[in-house]
Amino acid sequence: MTAPILQIKGVTKRFGGLTANSEISFDVAPREILSVIGPNGAGKSTLFKQIAGFINPTSGEVLFKGSRISGLPPHKVARLGVVRTFQETTIFRSMTVRENVVVAHHLRSKASLLGFFFGSGQARTDEAEFARSADDIIDFLGLQSIRNEMASNLPQGHLRALGMAIGLATHPEVILLDEPFAGMNHDETMRMVALVRRLRDERGLTVLLVEHDMPAVMKISDRIVCINFGEKIAEGTPSEIQANPRVIEAYLGS
Ligand code: ADP
Ligand code: MG
Repeated sequence: MTAPILQIKGVTKRFGGLTANSEISFDVAPREILSVIGPNGAGKSTLFKQIAGFINPTSGEVLFKGSRISGLPPHKVARLGVVRTFQETTIFRSMTVRENVVVAHHLRSKASLLGFFFGSGQARTDEAEFARSADDIIDFLGLQSIRNEMASNLPQGHLRALGMAIGLATHPEVILLDEPFAGMNHDETMRMVALVRRLRDERGLTVLLVEHDMPAVMKISDRIVCINFGEKIAEGTPSEIQANPRVIEAYLGS
């Protein structure tokens, strides 16, 4: 078995008297698509926020390629290659789609945003490379037709695709998607499912997904971890999870 790219080790998160995550442990293999499922309030988003550095575990740790990343701030975790997407706050509304994707490249690079705005020699070299990569990502996501649209003019579906483009611009190795299909109709969901699969197949990404759309989860996932009341209650392939009595009870009992 190949070494895990990500290890969640005994992660516990308490908010005052509430235990949102309790001793959660599992490994993620490189190029795996792993979904975390569970009823509302089970602690899925809390777990993702801890993996991406937005909140620190009360105890336990997260390792990326064997090194501890929990405790690092989100920009450092992102720079190492672990990125959570769909945070629309990172979108500059007064910039075009393409400008947003170009700017996002600076998050991973050593060149600072100031270099982008004020243009040192090195920054100009990086800029040509970033522009090429931005166009590549825009093509990959099928956003060519809106590349010069102002972000403030985009409908919800395109904003989400732009969020994905911005996440990809940091060239992650692990991408965390928290409810990427929420609010999408069947066709949109199927397009997104195909896209997520291409991220793995064509770009070699490892994908962690939180999603409520069970048919989509069963279709796309290599493995599933189910949590309920902050505890991991099951881990396995989609068919194992579908047949697991504890999983069935968690969903029927909620
Ligand atoms: P899920 O994503 O599975 O729906 P969350 O991880 O968002 O669940 O939340 C798990 C539990 O932790 C919920 O009871 C929620 O109210 C609580 N919680 C989440 N974030 C905070 C916070 N910042 N402060 C206090 N409680 C929180
Ligand atoms: Mg959530």
